[in-house]
Amino acid sequence: MIKSIESPMTASDSETATGNLTDGFHLLIDALRLNDIETIYNVPGIPITDLGRFAQAQGMRVLSFRHEQHAGYAAAAAGFLTKKPGICMTVSAPGFLNGLTALAHATANCWPMILISGSSEREIVDLQRGDYEEMDQLAVARPHCKAAYRILNARDIGLGVARAFRASLSGRPGGVYLDIPGAMLGQVMNAEDGKSSLIKVVEPNPSVRPGTEAVSRAVHALKSAKRPLIILGKGAAYAQCDETLRELVETLGFPYLPMSMAKGLLPDTHPLCASAARSLALKEADCVFLIGARLNWLLGHGQGRAWGEKGGKTFVQIDVEPTEIDSNQMVSAPLIGDVKSCAEELLKFIGDDFSKPDRGWIDAIRVKVDSNIARMAPRLRNNNSPMDYHAALGVIKDVISENPDAVLVNEGANALDLARSIVDIHKPRKRLDVGTWGIMGIGMGSAMAASVETGNQVLAIEGDSAFGFSGMEVETICRYGLPICIVILNNNGIYRGDGENWSGGDDPATTSFVPDSRYEMMMRAFGGDGFYVTNPGELREAVNKAFISRRPTLINAVIDPAAGRESGNIGNLNPSSVVAPMRYPQAGKQSQQS
Ligand code: ADP
Ligand code: MG
Repeated sequence: MIKSIESPMTASDSETATGNLTDGFHLLIDALRLNDIETIYNVPGIPITDLGRFAQAQGMRVLSFRHEQHAGYAAAAAGFLTKKPGICMTVSAPGFLNGLTALAHATANCWPMILISGSSEREIVDLQRGDYEEMDQLAVARPHCKAAYRILNARDIGLGVARAFRASLSGRPGGVYLDIPGAMLGQVMNAEDGKSSLIKVVEPNPSVRPGTEAVSRAVHALKSAKRPLIILGKGAAYAQCDETLRELVETLGFPYLPMSMAKGLLPDTHPLCASAARSLALKEADCVFLIGARLNWLLGHGQGRAWGEKGGKTFVQIDVEPTEIDSNQMVSAPLIGDVKSCAEELLKFIGDDFSKPDRGWIDAIRVKVDSNIARMAPRLRNNNSPMDYHAALGVIKDVISENPDAVLVNEGANALDLARSIVDIHKPRKRLDVGTWGIMGIGMGSAMAASVETGNQVLAIEGDSAFGFSGMEVETICRYGLPICIVILNNNGIYRGDGENWSGGDDPATTSFVPDSRYEMMMRAFGGDGFYVTNPGELREAVNKAFISRRPTLINAVIDPAAGRESGNIGNLNPSSVVAPMRYPQAGKQSQQS
């Protein structure tokens, strides 16, 4: 490898130990540690192999994954859970690109993350002379994250890390790319100068308080509401102001709908939780109060049949990002600020004379919630053979209510949509899923971050297809001995396991996998526990074993191949849902399901 002319050598261990010299490797590690980073999610390789080794030697936790995308998803989830940027470290070009998906995901989800990638020699890359893994990574990263920086000199590492911290954490959080040319890591400098070049960022995430006028406008709108509804989003969960938020919701006395990763901010079993009456609540509400939630596709952009034909709803919205307001519907009372400050200001203004909303509205929602829950109950206890999603998820619902500190990770199509509505979450930030993009593949990375950052038991509910995107990371889970129990709801395919080849030819359907695959053997191959279960009783027993042993466990739960729906709850987003059944009669069977 070509060394930079300025700095032909790396500080040897004895030199760094005596404190005379330091180098880019050690300065980067020191800069991260100075800013309270304890964990790096990484895949080793040129030029960052030694960076990981040195970081481990300095007492950091360095978790090495099998693929950068999963290290990245772990860092993204860590950012959400800890309110500090999750750090992912990758090699150049291909490793960087693998990690970039996760950086873009963190940005789309408004989660703080820093992707640090090694890169090749600037002098050669910029003249396109064909370097090892040549790529202008900074230019490629820029459109996919909140900010991107390159550090060319070891003496600027403190600055670069400080810029990355502030960019990822301030305002609306997001992903930041930090480009680290290999030669820079090897630059040597005087240790004392190095130390004084580092920056401890002070208040990288300053609170943003809304003005009095905005608060009184919002209070007026909320007071005027006859049928108010709160929507809690993952921005509210990220804000970590759980008590204040609870006080706000209870003082207002409004029913609320949690978005999927806001579940548990107030328990899903709370009397004001309207999840089981979602359709009624969205359709009939006259005033919708969004707290750290966007009116994006996940909420139908705030329009259409689900929102009632009448329209004319009033929107009140708390968001730290001013440009989010009016992005889909007119928001008549925006509150620009962080959730905690906004909630505190509202509570000051609301006062004791705030009259709770019309009893009729609250009762109507309550009646609907109770009747829907009662209607669902027997389905969750069914003993059909083969097992269906409802029976399996009935078990998972019980397990989570008995272990409310466990973190539930969830991805898939039917496995996602059904688990989200069936499995109650009881505490804040105990659910991690596919996020704003609906990504398949977040499973093992998120599960590992949840385990490492919280120390709690993790339960990953995975579709068999979703699991496949990150399945090799079961080795990583076994290597670090993490208390992660993976349940694969295995219906032999994508959406359903009984798809047909529309040509009538011999190849399997595009959506089918090897029937009766024995995924549990993958976990056993690396020393973990694997179980194959075919009914709710066996599933219950296997999950209990995993929770007691806290060993890496994979439960292959066999589900009826005909149980799933095309695309889960979002079949309507398939552009061919009308055309396909006309052209291929076999398609009708599946489309009817969606
Ligand atoms: P969900 O998918 O759960 O609805 P979104 O990701 O759509 O959540 O929305 C989260 C929103 O929260 C984003 O618009 C983001 O700007 C905002 N946000 C993130 N952190 C905070 C915070 N601390 N205070 C206020 N708003 C925040
Ligand atoms: Mg499947």
